[in-house]
Amino acid sequence: MNKYLERLDYAPALESDEKAQAWLMSHGRTFSHFIDGAWCPPSAKTYRTVINPSTAEAVAQVAEGDAADVEKAMVAAKNAFPSWSTLSGHERAKYLYAIERALARNARLFAVLESIDNGKTIRETRDIDIPLAIRHFTYHAGWAEIHEGEYPELVPGGVIGQIIPWNFPLLMLAWKIAPAIAVGNTVVLKPAESTPLTALLFAEMLVKEVKLPRGVVNIVFGGGEVGELIVKHKTPWKIAFTGSTAVGRAIRKSTAGEEKHLTLELGGKSPFIVFADADLDSAVEGVVDAIWFNQGQVCCAGSRLLLEESIAEEFVHRLKVRAEKLRVGPPLDKTMDIGAINSRRQYEKIMRLIDDGVKEGAVVWQPKHWQCPPVGFFVPPLIFTNVAPTCTIAQEEIFGPVLVVMSFRTPKEAVELANNTRYGLAASVWSENIGKANDVAGKIKAGTVWINSTNLFDAAAGFGGFRESGYGREGGREGIFDVLKDRTCDISARVLRRAKIIDATVLKSEDCVDRTRRFLIGGKLVRPDGGMSFPISSPSGVLLGSVGDAGRKDVRNAVEAARGAFESWRGQSAHLRAQILYFFAENLDNERERFADLLRRQTDCEAGDAKSVVKASVERLFYYAALADKFEGTVQPVSPKMTVVGVKEPLGVIGIRPSDLTPLLGIVSAIAPAIVMGNTVVAVTGQYDALSASDLIQVVQTSDVPPGVVNILSAANPDALAKVLAEHEDVDAVWFFGGRSGGAVVEAASASNMKRTWAEEYTPGSGLCLPSAVAKKFLRQATQVKNIWTPFG
Ligand code: NAP
Ligand code: MG
Repeated sequence: MNKYLERLDYAPALESDEKAQAWLMSHGRTFSHFIDGAWCPPSAKTYRTVINPSTAEAVAQVAEGDAADVEKAMVAAKNAFPSWSTLSGHERAKYLYAIERALARNARLFAVLESIDNGKTIRETRDIDIPLAIRHFTYHAGWAEIHEGEYPELVPGGVIGQIIPWNFPLLMLAWKIAPAIAVGNTVVLKPAESTPLTALLFAEMLVKEVKLPRGVVNIVFGGGEVGELIVKHKTPWKIAFTGSTAVGRAIRKSTAGEEKHLTLELGGKSPFIVFADADLDSAVEGVVDAIWFNQGQVCCAGSRLLLEESIAEEFVHRLKVRAEKLRVGPPLDKTMDIGAINSRRQYEKIMRLIDDGVKEGAVVWQPKHWQCPPVGFFVPPLIFTNVAPTCTIAQEEIFGPVLVVMSFRTPKEAVELANNTRYGLAASVWSENIGKANDVAGKIKAGTVWINSTNLFDAAAGFGGFRESGYGREGGREGIFDVLKDRTCDISARVLRRAKIIDATVLKSEDCVDRTRRFLIGGKLVRPDGGMSFPISSPSGVLLGSVGDAGRKDVRNAVEAARGAFESWRGQSAHLRAQILYFFAENLDNERERFADLLRRQTDCEAGDAKSVVKASVERLFYYAALADKFEGTVQPVSPKMTVVGVKEPLGVIGIRPSDLTPLLGIVSAIAPAIVMGNTVVAVTGQYDALSASDLIQVVQTSDVPPGVVNILSAANPDALAKVLAEHEDVDAVWFFGGRSGGAVVEAASASNMKRTWAEEYTPGSGLCLPSAVAKKFLRQATQVKNIWTPFG
């Protein structure tokens, strides 16, 4: 009997592709762009051949776009925006429901087509890709109904340019289009060149079944060049990109200073951690889903298996036994676990990285009894052991069915290994000790952590990265903030312009050298490393003193201090951070007369104005202290047997160039929300705001703010220092509130480690009153959401 069971194999169970082929034939296997609700032949009359990766046969010819095509699509989207965005939310919701219904009616056709185009198995397209895409439209139909009531301060911005990869073609399309159009934007989307088919079917469905108003969704086909044309086009207010970190970085650089909102969903090298006390058989199944789902071509694939040493050998053994049973073959066969790699290019990339692993001394294992079809791009499961954490295969995203295995001894070591990557997309933690699992989940730097589970998704739980996995979220409540923008509100600007600023006259003066004010670094008063200082005068020319002129070395020291203070500061309770901010506020308030007088002398403003600015600064500190424990996380309603907790985590070290239009209030408005959420900061001030900032240093020091949490520098050219902060690998975000050109420089420089940036002309809400919507925006900018999934029952 046992022998019989061992030999028992599946007979082929092919899903019919008849309907899909008929649909392709009905178009003569040749497709145009979808622009303004109609098929639009490519202006250059060029087409690209689409290949079925499991047979290497040509399936269709699809338009290859150029600038003229992108222009047409942008015009259509722009023209459609006014009427689409002013439609009632309810009317828009009805269209999204109609899309959901139409997708569901055609689900099998979509599933087959996706499998032909991408190479993934029908089991996955049928049970995962298409249902999740449908769910995304249902979920966002809800947002169409309610977003105006929930966020009256936010509005759709216009046209969004969207670029997606080939690994989940229809699902990524749904992730992009559903939230964008739900809240009233219109879109120009480019699918990956190798997987256009389901987007084409989707477009046809919009016309024939949904009757979506024309121009709301436009789809232009073509390669990376067409993506670049979309990114560089002047029309979109936002670019939403999913793809590799390399292209994401190029997009960050090329849009710097253009005031385009960017969301980047990039690559990953996610850890899959198994503790000795895990349910090992479940964890083995987890690994199968983590790295062999979709041939490992998953941004959040658990590609680094980290095993507690005591179970490592046994676990790898069980995994190999399991992997022997995986079936690799024709994707339309319902019994297959693993299909084809999407393209020859990707196949060759995987092979190259496997070679690297072998050269670096890792040990390769592949199932003994696997058979792949002779044609097509098939790669059987592969396990690398004896892998050093620094080698290429442990660091580079392979994007294929290749697992690397490493081991650890303690939870601390597990976390260190897990975080030993430039990415931060996802992680999986396996332990029956829920306390330990949650502790580790909290320490891993990733946007999604699955406890005792892996690769789970739901439209109600936002998805997105930390670090070089990008920024912005798709799905969930947090995703909504990325498809809406602020209603223009210029109240703060008017208040600010009344405050006068200090004249830039540089006085030569010997007597101010000794009295040069120092920086605040790591809780200490520090002289400029280069010994340089610069004098500051009032607008009427009265010498007021001199301040240090910081250089790169001072920035590095300040960042080091901020980094050193971060873990313990974020580990404090929100209550304690609030207490410290209250104390800070009280100390400032106690000295309000002195501060008002200083401010008046620095800016030559009216005494009443100076008093109001100090009063507003005190109020700002109280306000953010009040919010410290009221900017809650969420519990996402995804499934009855799953808790998904959205935790708002601090970013880390934030470099800040505050607005200098209103000295004192500018810096307070920026550092208060940053630190109250658990970040540490390095603020750089200049000619106009350095004196007030240096007065503030004493208040910081007497307010129990732990050393290193707030670091304050001054420089004759603060924009240059902001650039140094933006380039610094250990800075997690930069807020630049000092004008457009400096903001552009910071955005371009931030691409080095893909840190988040926020650039505005002046500190938002740094007028005398702070709208609560602006305060919330600050808190959102000061945090990133980590979704922790825990199954129960
Ligand atoms: P890719 O080369 O970056 O391509 C992604 C998309 O960008 C494609 O549509 C591509 O067009 C286009 N593109 C290429 N060069 C461009 C440029 N210079 N400007 C604008 N657009 C350009 O990535 P891929 O290899 O196709 O996809 C795999 C990557 O996506 C992996 O790194 C994976 O981790 C990531 N990914 C991330 C997520 C996430 O949510 N974080 C989800 C899925 C995938 P062509 O394909 O036509 O050249
Ligand atoms: Mg590509």
